[in-house]
Amino acid sequence: METMDLEQLIGWDSLLNDDERAVRASVRRLVREKFMPRIVADYEGGRFAIELLPELARLGLLGANLEGYGCAGMGSLAYGLACHELESCDSGLRSFVSVQTSLAMYAIHKFGSERQKQRWLPEMAAGRVLGCFGLTEPNHGSDPGGMETRAERDGADWIVSGRKLWITNAQIAHVAIVWARTRDGIGGFIVERGQFASEEIPHKLSMRASITGGLVMDGARVPDENRLPEAAGLKAPLSCLDNARFGVAWGVLGAARACLEIAIQYARERTQFGVPIAAKQLVQLELADIATEVVKASLLAVHYARLKEAGRLHPAQTSLLKRNNCRIALEAARRSRAVLGANGIAGEFHVLRHAANLESTFTYEGTDQIHTLSIGRALTGSAAF
Ligand SMILES: Cc1cc2nc3c(=O)[nH]c(=O)nc-3n(C[C@H](O)[C@H](O)[C@H](O)COP(=O)(O)OP(=O)(O)OC[C@H]3O[C@@H](n4cnc5c(N)ncnc54)[C@H](O)[C@@H]3O)c2cc1C
Repeated sequence: METMDLEQLIGWDSLLNDDERAVRASVRRLVREKFMPRIVADYEGGRFAIELLPELARLGLLGANLEGYGCAGMGSLAYGLACHELESCDSGLRSFVSVQTSLAMYAIHKFGSERQKQRWLPEMAAGRVLGCFGLTEPNHGSDPGGMETRAERDGADWIVSGRKLWITNAQIAHVAIVWARTRDGIGGFIVERGQFASEEIPHKLSMRASITGGLVMDGARVPDENRLPEAAGLKAPLSCLDNARFGVAWGVLGAARACLEIAIQYARERTQFGVPIAAKQLVQLELADIATEVVKASLLAVHYARLKEAGRLHPAQTSLLKRNNCRIALEAARRSRAVLGANGIAGEFHVLRHAANLESTFTYEGTDQIHTLSIGRALTGSAAF
């Protein structure tokens, strides 16, 4: 019997141009050849594959959707496809690229001076300088407007003090984009290693192949030339998050696709009651439900990517996309896990690792609930945060 895979159900090929297909193919190849063979061990060991960074840089994935300064200048859809392929391996791999590209580099690209862009972006695109993005604090997550980190002017410098927590790449970053309260409102600072210390977050049960930690600034002396001159107020870091969550929304579909493919293959090979479980109606219901949601989410992602490329994507639409895709990906991973029975909890079948990672994507870059409220605000005009 002829079968159809998810790509055929989506009709991907009719939606993409040649450049987009080429990006998808090259990232897929890199992921399959270099990252997949080690991901089970890396996840178990709580390691990020930092040695493979030059490979990510070689494909132009660091700063991929930024223009100039050694960046690849990919369109939004091509960047989305790259995120999708990276996360089909592990959400932590896509998180690394997202933070470097859409949070740290984007903040400098959008809010930095020409000198800052010249100094940092080419090095970051080449993977020689790694960045992180410090907004969340121990006491302020969904409501970053309450942040306690402060920056006081002292002659030609700023004195930055405070603590940031749950920061991706904190322990490996050479520079941290730190958001701090100043007398004139919230500002952004490029804080260099040595001016900040990082701390571990032990015993993580999700995103184990990603580096997550804390930043400590204890009277860090930051020259004024490291302040982001165009970043004024909380809307600056929020616009970085809006940009990054587009990549999250695309990435999680890669994890969902991987889970579905694993579940289909398993169901066709696993025999119970004398037939492959794939021939059982209740198993097909699981697979059909997962596929339907992934197809719908993918088509929405393509449509919104085209709007983003035209500069017409509203933040409420990004919220809708992020919330929807993280929900359906998490559900896809959980339901795929069940199709695999006991094997579903074994590392080599990947699905529970994806499910555990997707719990983080449900929470970071704005929680599911906060995006619900963003959509609600757009629909009603009333902010219910
Ligand atoms: C793996 C990982 C990586 C991360 N990387 C980064 C990073 O690189 N940089 C960074 O700055 N941050 C990062 N974060 C932090 C992340 O952005 C925050 O966890 C997120 O914003 C939520 O904040 P919180 O955890 O403090 O939860 P809280 O804000 O305390 O929320 C707890 C619960 O209350 C709900 N809630 C809060 N307010 C409301 C409300 N008004 N109405 C209804 N419900 C509400 C939330 O939805 C959530 O369910 C990361 C987190 C994780 C898990």
